[in-house]
Amino acid sequence: MALRGFPVTLPLEGQPVLVVGGGELALRKARLVAKSACRLTIVARNPLPALVALASEIRERDFTPADLENHRLVFAATDDEAVDMSVAEAAHKAGVLVNVPDKPRLCSFIMPAIIDREPISIAITSGGASPVLVRRLRERLEAALEPGLGKFARFLDGFRSAVKATRDDETARRRFWEAVIDGPVAKSFLAGDEKAAHEKLMLALNDAQFGQQAGGRVALVGAGPGDPDLLTLRALRVLQDADVVVHDKLVDERIMDYVRRDARRHYVGKSKSHHTMSQEAINQLLVAEAKAGHRVVRLKGGDPFMFGRGGEELEVLRAEGIPVEIVPGITAALGCGASTTIPVTHRDHAPGVTFVTGHGKDGEPDLDWQALARLRHTLVIYMGLTAAGAIARRLVEAGMAGDTPAALVEKGTRPDQKLVVGTLEALPDLAAAHGLTGPAIIIVGSVVTLADPARITELVPAHLRQAV
Ligand code: SAH
Repeated sequence: MALRGFPVTLPLEGQPVLVVGGGELALRKARLVAKSACRLTIVARNPLPALVALASEIRERDFTPADLENHRLVFAATDDEAVDMSVAEAAHKAGVLVNVPDKPRLCSFIMPAIIDREPISIAITSGGASPVLVRRLRERLEAALEPGLGKFARFLDGFRSAVKATRDDETARRRFWEAVIDGPVAKSFLAGDEKAAHEKLMLALNDAQFGQQAGGRVALVGAGPGDPDLLTLRALRVLQDADVVVHDKLVDERIMDYVRRDARRHYVGKSKSHHTMSQEAINQLLVAEAKAGHRVVRLKGGDPFMFGRGGEELEVLRAEGIPVEIVPGITAALGCGASTTIPVTHRDHAPGVTFVTGHGKDGEPDLDWQALARLRHTLVIYMGLTAAGAIARRLVEAGMAGDTPAALVEKGTRPDQKLVVGTLEALPDLAAAHGLTGPAIIIVGSVVTLADPARITELVPAHLRQAV
């Protein structure tokens, strides 16, 4: 969806800004914009004394379009709608940015809610959709941001040229600043000990190794089943820190929004219709990027160690002596269990759960069907859509009851999730329902009866069931 307003900032220091109006409303706007150290001109017959105190120039008369001359911004904040409208009209004609409080249709710019930690400022807007939500967000952010943040930013600013002079590589500079901001310098400063912060920063400046990781590294990161809310905090941190991200099809686009903006991205496919990079080639890519000194994130759907070939990548990287971190993710079975309210274990239904792959070398998986039937576990089958019919047949042959409840969850935890419920012997119909394309898991076991009926998108009716 398009942004309703595109946030940019205007450096207004010393710039002429016009406020038309002399009452409370005008004062509120003037106070806000005065924070930018602009030069304020007020046009009003009887301006409030507080307004006069803020202004560099007062024009105690009615507005005329000539007032706009040389001004970059104008606020039309009289109590008179007709006057506000004529100011807006004149401004539009003259190409001057205009704001009329509470009249978005007359505005060429709107005022966001502002959090001020000068020189850091945060603007929040909902494009008019919910001012109250914006206010709440602002309160939350105000509470979360240290009051000393602005002062800290100014402190850092004072060292920029020294850092530039001692580190000519852009990446080295970024790592230096990250180590300063994430480490003891920031801690001392924000705790109020500026002297200690200063000393620590001087030491860091003279230490060429400060913040520089020796060589690259790889994080195998689980992105969860789709919903970005299910990312772990650690995954978020690693994504924000990455130089390079290697991702595949299972990773939701919304999750890619959390990747550091400047990170390079490699899409390595894994879709039926697209060219797929072989696992061997992916391994080589990870090794090459890490050896070039980069912080590499290998981002995978679900958990990297659950049918994700994370184990293979780990072995290759380890053999090359590359440091590896594993960041677990919520695997599809558990994500889907939560989003359909199917508990994978339950004292009245299943003493355990078994995860298997439904994908075998020649299509049909190579599993110990007898053992699976005997276990009385909930059975979760990954990658089982294509072989659903063969899987159902094998399980029934091995002694599992044909009327054992079964569910198919497609695109679990995503807005377009589908939950198709039926029985084991009807699995082929389940898979055919809706023309599911995946990714999907199959859940077999009586826990399926606990699924929230409201979330079932299709119940495969009895008369559709075929004998398998
Ligand atoms: N590492 C992943 C699994 C990778 S194998 C994990 O831990 O979840 C790919 C299979 O995962 C798919 O064929 C499908 O069976 C399952 N899968 C992944 N995301 C899914 C989702 N959102 N909904 C249902 N199944 C999913």
